[in-house]
Amino acid sequence: MKRNERFEALAAGYLFPEVGRRRKAFQEAHPEAKIISLGIGNTTEPLTPHVEDALVAAARRLGTAAGYSGYGDEQGEAALREAIARVHYSGAVRPEEVFVSDGAKCDIGRLQILFGSCAAVVQDPAYPVYVDGSIIQGASLVYMPCTRENGFMPELSVIPAGSLVYFCSPNNPTGAVATRDQLARLVAEVRRKKSILVFDAAYSEYVSEPSLPRSVYEVDGAAECAIEVNSFSKPIGFTGVRLGWSVAPKALKYDDGRSVNADWNRIATTLFNGASNIAQAGGLASFDPEGRSEMRGLVGYYMENARLIRSALQALGVECIGGDNAPYIWARFPGRDSWEVFGEILEKCHVVTTPGSGFGPSGQSYIRFSAFGHRESVVEAAGRLARLGR
Ligand code: PLP
Repeated sequence: MKRNERFEALAAGYLFPEVGRRRKAFQEAHPEAKIISLGIGNTTEPLTPHVEDALVAAARRLGTAAGYSGYGDEQGEAALREAIARVHYSGAVRPEEVFVSDGAKCDIGRLQILFGSCAAVVQDPAYPVYVDGSIIQGASLVYMPCTRENGFMPELSVIPAGSLVYFCSPNNPTGAVATRDQLARLVAEVRRKKSILVFDAAYSEYVSEPSLPRSVYEVDGAAECAIEVNSFSKPIGFTGVRLGWSVAPKALKYDDGRSVNADWNRIATTLFNGASNIAQAGGLASFDPEGRSEMRGLVGYYMENARLIRSALQALGVECIGGDNAPYIWARFPGRDSWEVFGEILEKCHVVTTPGSGFGPSGQSYIRFSAFGHRESVVEAAGRLARLGR
């Protein structure tokens, strides 16, 4: 059996294993160092009580003859699809357009199977799965640089006709959030180019400013050109539990008028067997008033971390974006190599970060700080950042 030749095209070594390797090497050389990670975007705080109760109750039901259930609908449980449509989208999408899944990353991978070897347009820097998953599918890539000069909103004219456009807002890694006008321009350009938009809204619950959009469907015309993916990972700490969803509007059509929703349903039923019924019970609980309130508390906790990190960096005169409506801070170190700055922060502060260049060439000279961490570690790390100024 020959190796799939597309694997040769993947960039060698994945960013986070390399970060891990450097961290380990530093720890071995300095066993006394108490390293704090503000690196990967993994949640750290426990599940909230109401959601935890729902998960436990669902698991217990499965242990009873009356409450046991096996496979469910591949598209997700009706009550959860309905709650997502009603609560998250305030009725802007219909339950039959919502597909519950085991997470946004898994949905992105299956969307890449759905669209195959098309032209794929990605923001640079970008969350790595858009690029690597496209390469595995044999898609050709077009990069849209998101830089300080363009205010992290890319030039859209580069979008080729008939392509798949990935857009993430609030953005990982830059923390930038597209305004309603910017999203309207994106939607208009994607429609003009007869393309399809995959809008990654995994951090939508981190948007606190009322004027900023949380969903692409807040923009007119988006239902005719956009699929949205979202996740329970970051708002309610389901990174390990695994639960997400996608929206494929019925109005979204291929160039020949056929339904994208119907093909997405086919992918869900063919390659996926439904999200865990226990996880779905937890996700459903997060939509009732108690669940909403707990979710806001958890998001607020991480956003206070973001504020602490950003203030510490700004006190040193480091220019930052993000950290206000997103749990990432994108810090600029002009003229410097990202890995070199990563090394300096590790050596002087014993803090692990993520080098911006790992997310794409436009990330060079940036460092991503993640706000996911225990408060005491974040306070300690923020204090240690002052050593960078010495
Ligand atoms: N999309 C973005 C932009 C992310 O940053 C992440 C996780 O870090 C995901 C998707 C993955 O979400 P999930 O845990 O639901 O697979």
